[in-house]
Amino acid sequence: MSFDRSLARCSFCGRHTSEVRRMVAGPGAAYICNDCLELCNDILNDPTPFSAKALELASRPPVVIAAPQGLETERENMRATHEPLRVVTLELEQKQQGMTLILHQMHYYQAHFELHYLWIRPPLTAGFAFVPRIIFFLKDNLGAQWTGDRGGMLLARPELASGPNNAVYQGSARFRPLPAAEARVLTIRAADPLGQFEDPPPTPWQFEITL
Ligand SMILES: [Zn+2]
Repeated sequence: MSFDRSLARCSFCGRHTSEVRRMVAGPGAAYICNDCLELCNDILNDPTPFSAKALELASRPPVVIAAPQGLETERENMRATHEPLRVVTLELEQKQQGMTLILHQMHYYQAHFELHYLWIRPPLTAGFAFVPRIIFFLKDNLGAQWTGDRGGMLLARPELASGPNNAVYQGSARFRPLPAAEARVLTIRAADPLGQFEDPPPTPWQFEITL
């Protein structure tokens, strides 16, 4: 595929050559700007078990490279179908029995909302036969209740982990309908269904968020 390099955009942040100090060209239409390179360097030098900067980078919306005439339309379509109306950053973290659950963000759409989370735990052994997942139960202060879509799909994100003793799974659970406008507090309970086989079984995580 031929590519007009005057259209170059950083594959990590989407900015054009004219908006950055330096752009490094990769294969095809891949580019990285000086700011994103510096961020990657910070991630490589981060000694903590979980890099918040790595998550920030991995959570960015994908940069769409399209033919110039279709670019704006394509971006509008992406926005209409995939982008939430409102994103609330939670960054709530709880640890128990060697595992950490991080509630990362809440995404509000027209008729549903999504809870984006990270589950950091010891790696599952090779040949593990189950699909790891977290199940959620939500309740607001008015008594409304939601169960998620079985916790949604979990993606293994080894690149977010700091070493072989950690496995990072990223997931989102979808709930409908939206909470009522008068609801003020949401209690989020989360459990690993396979944890029930452990002895003793872990108590569910519980978070409270203000709406
Ligand atoms: Zn960039």
